[in-house]
Amino acid sequence: MRIERILANNPGPYTGPGTNTWLLDDGGGAVAVIDPGPVDSSHLDRVLFQIRDRRPVAVLVTHTHPDHAPLANPLAKELDVPAFGPSQGPDFVPDLMLADGSTLEVGVTRLDVIHTPGHASDHLCFRVDDVLFTGDHIMGGSSVMVEDMGSYLSSLERLSGTGLTRLHPGHGDEMDDPDLVIDWYLSHRLQRHEEIFEAVLAGVSSVPAIVEKVYAEVSSSLHPLAAKSVEAHLALLRDQGRIALSQDRAIPIPPDDS
Ligand SMILES: [Zn+2]
Repeated sequence: MRIERILANNPGPYTGPGTNTWLLDDGGGAVAVIDPGPVDSSHLDRVLFQIRDRRPVAVLVTHTHPDHAPLANPLAKELDVPAFGPSQGPDFVPDLMLADGSTLEVGVTRLDVIHTPGHASDHLCFRVDDVLFTGDHIMGGSSVMVEDMGSYLSSLERLSGTGLTRLHPGHGDEMDDPDLVIDWYLSHRLQRHEEIFEAVLAGVSSVPAIVEKVYAEVSSSLHPLAAKSVEAHLALLRDQGRIALSQDRAIPIPPDDS
């Protein structure tokens, strides 16, 4: 098996250096493309050039966000292979749907699909032996925008201790020692969760004010992203019965002493 990265030309505060398009080669020339990225003819040309005379079998997307999926259909058409994905997106229509437990043969290599909701409800990771393509579930060197915190934490826990040795993220560099990375993500999230609860306890009740307080050390260009995460943390605190949410205000619920 061989894994190659082609970096899309879409750097930014939410995409880091840009989207990583991964080529998975089974070692005998059968190739799958993972996360082609946004529509961009020069990136399309680079992917086609990199595949050259190998045998493409599939184009896959981890989720349907605009920095991952829109090039999938044009590329699949160019390669004459199906585009696989979890659901239909704004600029993506899967030829074949993938779900938790789906498997795909890439030549002699088997790829297993793992549903990892949290960053997006339809998010998938792809496992090949002890390697995981993580999409935006785990990123190299930048913080993940989380839509549903409870699901996100469960999706991280599910991957921990499963014998992974390497992560290939949708943005940033590959990571060794996945269990250490996953532990860091979990503890970082739980720390944020408690910081946000502490802020609510201290009377900071609106999302923008909580962002100002808890994310003071984070660049303000990332505050809109942080606001999404704060909303997800507040929803989980509500589900945990620790706060109430009323008219965009977070109110602590006193512990029940009875
Ligand atoms: Zn995404």
